Amino acid sequence: MSDFSNHKFGTKAIHAGAEPDPSTGAIMTPIFQTSTYVQESPGKNKGFGYARGKNPTREALQKNIAALENGKHCICFGSGMAATDAVMRMLKPGDEVITGDDLYGGSYRLFTKIYENYGIKFHFINLTDASNIEKYINSNTKLIWAETPTNPTMQIIDIAACSKIAKQHHLLLAVDNTFASPYLQNPLALGADIVMHSVTKYLGGHSDVVMGALIVNEDKLHEQLYFILNSCGANPGPMDCFLVMRGIKTLHLRMERHCYNGRKIAEYLKTHPKIGKIYWPGFAEHPNHEIAKEQMRDFGGMISIVLKGASLEETFKIASSFKVFSLAESLGGVESLINHPVTMTHASIPKAEREKAGVVDNLLRLSVGVEDVEDLIEDLNQALSN
Ligand SMILES: *Cc1c(COP(=O)(O)O)cnc(C)c1O
Repeated sequence: MSDFSNHKFGTKAIHAGAEPDPSTGAIMTPIFQTSTYVQESPGKNKGFGYARGKNPTREALQKNIAALENGKHCICFGSGMAATDAVMRMLKPGDEVITGDDLYGGSYRLFTKIYENYGIKFHFINLTDASNIEKYINSNTKLIWAETPTNPTMQIIDIAACSKIAKQHHLLLAVDNTFASPYLQNPLALGADIVMHSVTKYLGGHSDVVMGALIVNEDKLHEQLYFILNSCGANPGPMDCFLVMRGIKTLHLRMERHCYNGRKIAEYLKTHPKIGKIYWPGFAEHPNHEIAKEQMRDFGGMISIVLKGASLEETFKIASSFKVFSLAESLGGVESLINHPVTMTHASIPKAEREKAGVVDNLLRLSVGVEDVEDLIEDLNQALSN
C-alpha cells in the first residue's frame, strides 16, 4: 500500500490511510460498526480480535492523522481529554510534570482535580521562556506538557527549545497541537515525543464529533500508550472515525481560509476603538512573533480580544449580540464562534490564576470560521457598536 509519506499535505489529507475497500472497491473507508471479529480457529484472526483494541475504520483514520503529523504511529481516543488522560496514566505517584500557566481549562482540571489526587505534582509555569523550565526539574520530573499557541492568550512556546531541555534531562515532551492543527505546525519534527490533538476542533472541522489523538514516532511509547487505550477503553466509535476522515479531506482548504479570514479580522480589530488589547501571533509586535514565524506555517484563525474598559455586563452584552458568530465553547469548525473564557472554557481555573495569565472578565476569544470575511467583519462591527 502507498503511504503517501513523500506527498504534500493536501494529497496526504485526502489519500493517506484511505485505501479502497478490498472486498468491494468502495473508495470511502466503510464504517465497520462491529464489536467483534469472527476467528477462523481459536486465536487465528485477520488482525482484528475485539473492537476496543482495533477497528478498521479507526485504523484508516489513525494512518491518516499519523501522515499529517509526519509521525509513525497515531492512536485515536474518545475525546481530546481521553488522549491527554492516557499520557498522564504513564506516570506514577511522586512523578512531576512541568506545564504552562495558560492551559486549556479541561487540561488544568484534569491535572489538578484528578491527577494531583494520585500524587502527581504539576508545576504551572511560563513556558514562553524555555530557560524557566530547568529551575523546576528534579529527579522526579518525567514530562513537559506544552500547549502552543496557548489558550486563550495566544502565547507561542518554542517547541525546539523545550525539546532540547527535555532531551538533556531525559524527559518526555508532549505538545497539545490542537490550536495549530497539523497544517500549521508539526511538533514531532521540532523534537517533541508526543503530539496530542483534540480532533474535535480543526481536524474534525465540522463541530459534529468529539475525539482525541496521540501521535508518536517511538515504537516503545506507542506500545505503552496503546496498552493504556486497550486497558482503559477510551476508544472512539467507528462512525465518528468516518466523520473525521471525511472532515480531514478538506483540512488544508479550510486552514487556508481560516488563516486568511483570521488575518483580515485581526487587522480590522487592531484599530477598532473598542479593542484594548488583541492577541494574534501574526502581528510583528506579538512578543513571540519570531518563534511563531519559525515553527508555524501561518498564524491561524484564533484571536482573543480585550474590550477596552468594559465591565462584565458590557462584555456579556457584546458577546450576546452577534448574528453570524455563535456564542459557544469549542473552536476549529467551519462556522465562526465567540467564547467568553471566564464563564465558559476557563471557568474551572481559579480567578487569581486566570487573571495572572491575562484571562480577564472582558476578554473574548474568536474562532474565525471559513465564511465570507466581509460578513464576519460586518457582524463584529455591529456587535461592537452595542
Ligand atoms: C478542546 C481542547 C482540548 C480537549 O479536547 P476534547 O476533545 O474537548 O476533549 C484540549 N486542548 C485544547 C487546546 C482544546 O482546545
